[in-house]
Amino acid sequence: MGLSLTRRINNNFMSADSDVTNKFVVALAGNPNVGKSTIFNALTGLKQHTGNWPGKTVATARGVYFYENRAFNLVDVPGTYSMMPNSAEEEVARNFICFGSPDATIIVSDATCLERNLNLVLQVLEITPDVVVCVNLMDEACRKGIEIDLKELEKCLGVPVIGSSAREGKGLDELKTAVYGIASGSIKTRPINIKYNEIAEDCINLLKPPIERVLNGSLSSRWISLKLLEEDENFLEDLKTYTGKDLKDEPEICAALEKAKNILEENLMDEDNLRDMIVSNIVSVAAEIANKTVTVKNSKYNEPDRKTDRIVCSRVFGIPIMLGLLALVFWITIVGANYPSEIIASLFSLLEVKISAFLIFLSAPPWLHDMIVFGLYRTIAWVVSVMLPPMAIFFPLFTLLEDLGYLPRVAFNLDNFFKKACSHGKQALTMCMGFGCNAAGVTGCRIIDSPRERLIAIITNNFVPCNGRFPTLIAISVIFFGGMATGDKSSVMPVIVVTGFILSGVFMTLFTSKLLSKTLLKGMPSSFTLELPPYRKPQPGKILVRSLFDRTLFVLGRAVTVAAPAGLIIWIMANVEPGGISILKRCADLLEPFAYHLGMDGYILLAFFLGLPANEIVLPIVLMSYMSAGSMMEYESLTQLGALLTSNGWNSLTAICVMLFSLMHFPCGTTLWSIKKETGSLRWTALSFVLPTAMGIMACFTVTCIFRLFGWA
Ligand code: GDP
Repeated sequence: MGLSLTRRINNNFMSADSDVTNKFVVALAGNPNVGKSTIFNALTGLKQHTGNWPGKTVATARGVYFYENRAFNLVDVPGTYSMMPNSAEEEVARNFICFGSPDATIIVSDATCLERNLNLVLQVLEITPDVVVCVNLMDEACRKGIEIDLKELEKCLGVPVIGSSAREGKGLDELKTAVYGIASGSIKTRPINIKYNEIAEDCINLLKPPIERVLNGSLSSRWISLKLLEEDENFLEDLKTYTGKDLKDEPEICAALEKAKNILEENLMDEDNLRDMIVSNIVSVAAEIANKTVTVKNSKYNEPDRKTDRIVCSRVFGIPIMLGLLALVFWITIVGANYPSEIIASLFSLLEVKISAFLIFLSAPPWLHDMIVFGLYRTIAWVVSVMLPPMAIFFPLFTLLEDLGYLPRVAFNLDNFFKKACSHGKQALTMCMGFGCNAAGVTGCRIIDSPRERLIAIITNNFVPCNGRFPTLIAISVIFFGGMATGDKSSVMPVIVVTGFILSGVFMTLFTSKLLSKTLLKGMPSSFTLELPPYRKPQPGKILVRSLFDRTLFVLGRAVTVAAPAGLIIWIMANVEPGGISILKRCADLLEPFAYHLGMDGYILLAFFLGLPANEIVLPIVLMSYMSAGSMMEYESLTQLGALLTSNGWNSLTAICVMLFSLMHFPCGTTLWSIKKETGSLRWTALSFVLPTAMGIMACFTVTCIFRLFGWA
């Protein structure tokens, strides 16, 4: 029975892994940012895949490695601070360790702050004895003058402890040996038993035997007793899902629980007191163990980090430094992107001649030739020439800041603003993710625990321009504010304009968050602890791989896939002319009166609607619409692009309104789909569509009125 229950639980989690039967299952757990992914990648190499947890939208990675002729199925459990979950990720982590029946659980800890990490270790040891503790970042601890007595730690915890420096690949062989020992049963552990006060122990002793009988010893009865005493309904519900047992339906357990509750009541202990007592016991045991095993030779080991933080996170310099860095990143992007853009464009131009000649050689009819070359090919060429260079520069720079450990400092600096807007400081981090892709930003909002604040972060994420809108902002600001028209080229003004627009996006995020907090999503900001990880030396190789492959090429690939068919459709709309007027022109004419009041024209507004699949195709659609032949122009340079726009009536008002509307309008299709998935509600998805659009319309209308009133346009 015990065995079959185990298998059933395992199957519940592992349904995606058909070949799981002969493998040991190993859970890889730990606090966030301790090097879990580094260990996972080092152990599994390319033999890994990602997927979702059954029934949850929490992404996870699984991979296989081999040791002593045995296969190990390594499951990367989401980073968690505690086994008392506060978010969907933490719940998944707890449930896998508890119900996934791993043959071994590796808990990765950070050697530079072992005491804090021990809290998780102690909690996991209450659930399972099959644990290997991997104390990672030993090299960093050594640099900081921190010494850890691993042998003593092993004695204190009663399970194998391995020291590692995963980035250098050190300690991983020992880790594999220890995991093999635990999984195969050749190493027997005697995990530390945390003792609680007498009252709690009496209650546990009452509950343990019936639980043991009902669950057949498949789960730790001591730990389940605590959950029952704490009335952790969420956990009990999960227990029912994974084991099929409702403990509160078991008469024996109910009777014991009633007795235990009476004891607690007699001693004036409610669930909250009990939970507090459990947590403070764990914390004090962790402190005791750390005291015995950690020696800090140089108590000023993190003085350089602290000194840097005193400036980077100070009230006076924090925000100016942040703005300066943002402007610097934009400046490098703007200055650097122009040259490769033109080189790529001329390559595309050469290739176009060849494709065209090939189609003529095949005797393709002119309409097919034009549709492929002017519709499909030029759209792709445009998207790649305009998007690739800024992304290839912006993403590595952004990843560099991320790798340095600067992004949590941004969240720290902005925390006060978000609190004032009654939302969550971590929203600053999800905003940063939105720079890459709003769909990723929306998914990233899972790091916010409170559902109210998570919703606010999801709805407002679109105010940060993603990379699809970013090149548009850069191109327009260079053309209209970079002195291109007067020939007096400057890169400073466009940087100021782009930074200004990004700041208005941040302002709109805060404003909308406050608005939502006071209306539809009333509530106070929840408190949270933001961990400022140590500054780390960036790894250029990793930055390049992550920013170029994971971000740039991924986003570009998506843009091209969406842009190509869109290019075809728009070419058809521009070239099918019932009654002598193209469909595109008819639609644009329809929108013209409305667009006029927003400082734009019908073609621009139409392009925003047609760009719903992906924001990056908005500008190409506008250009295609302007070409008299109804085809996309060949991209040569921004100067030529500027000439085309101004000859079609663009002025600084049009530029500002297009940038404003680009910043504030409905999210792209992928983001809307992610919002629907994350919120599970059409109502919130609709609000995420309507709110920024309404704000964009209001902003454009106001700016247009002001410009026209003063005769500036
Ligand atoms: P996770 O959040 O736990 O998955 O952590 P990651 O694997 O992403 O690592 C966080 C950061 O720590 C990255 O910058 C890693 O390169 C770095 N890191 C991981 N392991 C080590 C190590 O053993 N030594 C040092 N110095 N850095 C490490």
